[in-house]
Amino acid sequence: MYKSIVIGTGPAGLTAAIYLARADLNPIVIEGIQPGGQLTTTTEVENFPGFPQGIMGPELMDNMRKQAERFGAEFRSGWAEEVDFTKHPFKVKVEGGYELEAETVILSTGASAKYLDIPGEQDNIGRGVSTCATCDGFFFRGKKLIVVGGGDSAMEEASFLTRFASSVTVVHRREELRASKIMQERAKNNEKVHWALGRTPLEVATGEKGAVIGLKVRNNISNQEELVEADGVFVAIGHTPNTKFLGNQIEIDEHGYIVVRPGTSETNIPGVFACGDVQDTRYRQAITAAGSGCMAAMDCEKYLEGSMVHDWSKN
Ligand code: NAP
Repeated sequence: MYKSIVIGTGPAGLTAAIYLARADLNPIVIEGIQPGGQLTTTTEVENFPGFPQGIMGPELMDNMRKQAERFGAEFRSGWAEEVDFTKHPFKVKVEGGYELEAETVILSTGASAKYLDIPGEQDNIGRGVSTCATCDGFFFRGKKLIVVGGGDSAMEEASFLTRFASSVTVVHRREELRASKIMQERAKNNEKVHWALGRTPLEVATGEKGAVIGLKVRNNISNQEELVEADGVFVAIGHTPNTKFLGNQIEIDEHGYIVVRPGTSETNIPGVFACGDVQDTRYRQAITAAGSGCMAAMDCEKYLEGSMVHDWSKN
């Protein structure tokens, strides 16, 4: 039996693992299908303190993993499929049929890319539809692209994709962008970026040979259907927290995010902690995820020492 299982290896899980390992708690860390989490699909991270020239997302995550290993964290690949938090020790069933037991669990499974849920989208994933510019942008050298979304992710992806594409059109359902000013400005100052605002995506359109030819949209002012032409569509409309595998065993909010006691990483089950994007509806930054991972490890240590005094149920 382990003292602690960490599920998820984004900045939150890896920071928790570093802290637990340095506290001699020998955590076991379960890495799912995307080790390193969302940062491994991003390009340069410019706002993680300590890297004045920026650092590539995958490199940052690789460094964090090595740091956790250096202090004795053990890593296992696989998808956590089921948990049993109803009695001690806690159990976590991992893909491949094995089960791990521990006194505490840190949930840091992050969030996954959302899809538009429109015709033609799922059929063309990997064949003209993508949620990861860093992974797939390279395949669209000299082509016309669409990025759907009006948030920071969409701005970032649009700017990044201009490295390869001849042009990138941002399709957003409202006239106003949600993205931060600096990210908007960067995209707006890029002459390869074009705008189709106030357009609701209806369908990924394909041509005679089945290749993606663009996105059918509804112009929200004229109420007319239009085709925004492109060879590829990148969907950047946010993320869904990865909490399905928890069943009904832990308190989650109406959007699926784990509820933690404010200012802590404590879930409603003593000994189970949450950190990173899986519980963060507000900040969702690499640095806040890392910070919350540190909090989870420290809360976990206190719990194991028996010095955690708060009873959540009496909140
Ligand atoms: P987000 O801020 O939630 O934005 C999602 C965008 O997609 C919104 O513009 C939304 O439209 C649109 N959208 C959602 N569902 C849609 C649907 N079904 N059809 C059409 N459009 C839809 O998500 P995000 O851009 O991924 O950013 C998430 C967080 O990460 C934010 O806090 C952001 O600041 C942060 N982030 C930071 C950086 C950076 O600093 N380098 C980079 C990426 C992300 P509405 O606006 O109409 O709701």
